[in-house]
Amino acid sequence: MRDKHTRRVALQWMFPTVILLIVIVAMFVDFYRTSSESAQKQVEKNFAAVAEEYATKFGDQLTSMQRTGKIVTAVMQQHSEKELGLVEEFVEALYDETDAYMVIMTNFDGRGINQDKEWVSLYHVAYLEQIKDGSEKFLYLEDDGISGKSAFLSVLPIGKKEAKAVLLMFYPANQFSSLIKKGDFDGNAFYVITDTSGVIIEGNMATETIYEGNNLWDGISDEKEVRRIQNRIANGNGGVTKITDSAMSYCLAYAPIGINDWYVAVGIEQVYADRLQSQEWNNTKGMLYKLLLAVFVFLGVIVILNIVGKIRSHEENRDLADKADTDLLTDLNNKLATERKIKEYMEIHPNEQALMFVLDIDNFKKINDTMGHAFGDEVIRTLGHQIRGEFRVSDIIGRIGGDEFMIFLKNIKDDALVEQEANRVARFFANFQAGEYVKYSATASIGAAVYPRDANDFESLYKAADKALYKAKERGKNQLAFYGDDK
Ligand code: GH3
Ligand code: MG
Repeated sequence: MRDKHTRRVALQWMFPTVILLIVIVAMFVDFYRTSSESAQKQVEKNFAAVAEEYATKFGDQLTSMQRTGKIVTAVMQQHSEKELGLVEEFVEALYDETDAYMVIMTNFDGRGINQDKEWVSLYHVAYLEQIKDGSEKFLYLEDDGISGKSAFLSVLPIGKKEAKAVLLMFYPANQFSSLIKKGDFDGNAFYVITDTSGVIIEGNMATETIYEGNNLWDGISDEKEVRRIQNRIANGNGGVTKITDSAMSYCLAYAPIGINDWYVAVGIEQVYADRLQSQEWNNTKGMLYKLLLAVFVFLGVIVILNIVGKIRSHEENRDLADKADTDLLTDLNNKLATERKIKEYMEIHPNEQALMFVLDIDNFKKINDTMGHAFGDEVIRTLGHQIRGEFRVSDIIGRIGGDEFMIFLKNIKDDALVEQEANRVARFFANFQAGEYVKYSATASIGAAVYPRDANDFESLYKAADKALYKAKERGKNQLAFYGDDK
């Protein structure tokens, strides 16, 4: 009974709990997947930020040099180009005030004056054609044609309407490498400046062997990805991609400098990137597991508390029901419970033979009168306890009146058993005594009826047994009579 109820309560909880668990696990799996993706995104975002930082820093250096140059060209415009002395002073000042390693002013005749107030020849330099149009621009020179250095060249026109001369400021290309902090990515990265076509202009690419054409995009086998990158670059955006060479894979972050179509690209060794990613992911994972554990513990506690609560309240209800069924003096069934239980039995076993005894203590009024009401109670209590011990637990025994009891014996297979049980009841009273100090031998008269032979419902069977009881009283008490036994 108790186990059945526990199982029912557990089953009641099983369904919603299983559904909840499935939902939680599904959420966890989804969260797990997106978190693992976001760990990767987070690391890539950090890489992109580093590329952007260098791109901004380097772009700023070039534009600030150019800005200083522009102030000077604006002043120069106010003066005649014949004032050579003044021009020399300006060029020298620019050299002193900026990062330029060389400053030259030229009026396109193939000669120019430099910061040392010396004439330098520009006839032979390859970029002469590119500066002749006198427009403002930046050029990259692998060789400046004068000192042999690589340079980022800022070209600024001088002249009110059209350029009569240009100012050339040479920014040392190798200065880019000196901007790089060696601590970034523990030296597992390279830094380069490229143009949109991927050609490497400048940088500290550790492995020279990688790209024969000196082109970074050669490291990407997927043509679509290259086009995607070039699209992003055309729109002035940076990003992150993967590139490989014969020896290694890299996570490549790229960001625009803001000048021409030049880009800073930072290539971080993939193994190193993976390590950072798994660190990031492990942190998230640890948190996820703790969260899941907390959810399960919480759920478990709620489910257990509820099951225990339900079982307890069921037990309480059952205790209350038992109490309502019990006769307080004898602990036997009271009249209503006796009747209900017998009726239940009859409903389930309409053909199984059973035996009903109704017994009434003889001259009980006299016991009350002579021994006192409390002693009368004691007799009833003792009778109740002893009678209970005399029969099977499954038999129904109750106190149905002041000094009246009912005994219902189930499953009495044959008449021999009927007789045997009748004898047992009769014998019981032959030996019955009550009272602790004063032993009092009370007797009872007993009426018996057989179910379903004598009657097949409770009321009729009770009436039959009661009739027999009356007969027993009539015959002089202290005896047992069967219904229909008129001898
Ligand atoms: P009979 O032999 O014909 O059965 O007569 P009787 O004296 O036993 O009288 P009867 O059975 O008709 O009445 C039972 C009496 O039992 C009536 C009442 O005074 C007394 N009685 C009823 N309930 C209790 C109880 O709980 N305690 C005590 N002490 N007496 C009770
Ligand atoms: Mg009586």
